[in-house]
Amino acid sequence: MGTLANIALVVLGISFLVFVTFFGRLPALRRTPIAWLHRLLWVHLPNWFTSLDQRLSGGRVTSSCSRFGNYMMYDRHPTVLIFFLALLIGGEVLYLPTAWPQLSPLHKATGAIAILLPYLFLYLSAATDAGTITAANHVPEMARYPYDFTLFHPGAVCSTCRRLKPARSKHCAVCKRCVARCDHHCIFINNCVGAANTHWFLLLLLSTALLTLYGGVLGVGLMTAQMRLGDAGCGAGHRGWRGDGRGDAAGADDEPVGVGVVGVSFVVGVLRDDDE
Ligand SMILES: [Zn+2]
Ligand SMILES: [Zn+2]
Repeated sequence: MGTLANIALVVLGISFLVFVTFFGRLPALRRTPIAWLHRLLWVHLPNWFTSLDQRLSGGRVTSSCSRFGNYMMYDRHPTVLIFFLALLIGGEVLYLPTAWPQLSPLHKATGAIAILLPYLFLYLSAATDAGTITAANHVPEMARYPYDFTLFHPGAVCSTCRRLKPARSKHCAVCKRCVARCDHHCIFINNCVGAANTHWFLLLLLSTALLTLYGGVLGVGLMTAQMRLGDAGCGAGHRGWRGDGRGDAAGADDEPVGVGVVGVSFVVGVLRDDDE
């Protein structure tokens, strides 16, 4: 319970800082502690740090931070992909050691497939070229979709690639190329979602959602069965949570199942919300 309370405190603290960051400049909150905190966090502290850095290192730390920030925001890098993998693997590491031995052979077979598919589709989404428009494929790409005269107009030129923009294409500032039928740049796959990999991306969403649902249903089923056995065991002489003679201490093993389910659910949530 102590760990949970600490996690809840950290989440609350981060949520409060996010609230201050986004809403601290609202006129409605002027002359409130929220506005004061916003100025402290985003004006006074950065100014103080910049002037200190100027005095100590001639501004080198500030310019390095700025370069790093630009790289993180506007270049391709697998940081979020690694974070996504860590969530996926972390959820499974918490879930499987407890749940796997209790699964039937059928659920072990289907579970193994459900676990592997998101990794396969993540790899295919990330490694497949999203549909780069090059000199070689520019002519067929121009004929691929008609212009709708609303979002896409004939004659528009990409100022970076210096080519006419095919309908439904977009220049990605992160990938630094024009992408055919571009949907969005997804930081979770470190790639654009375009004409050539949309199907892999949708399969990644579907397989991750199915894994979450499947894992959640199995986890709840396992926990319910054990609670029933535990109740029966208590009535028959305090045999404990599992009701299999392993005693009360085994109850602690079941907590990771729930945590794992929550972790994987979070993964699906952030993936779905990632664009726009
Ligand atoms: Zn372009
Ligand atoms: Zn991109």
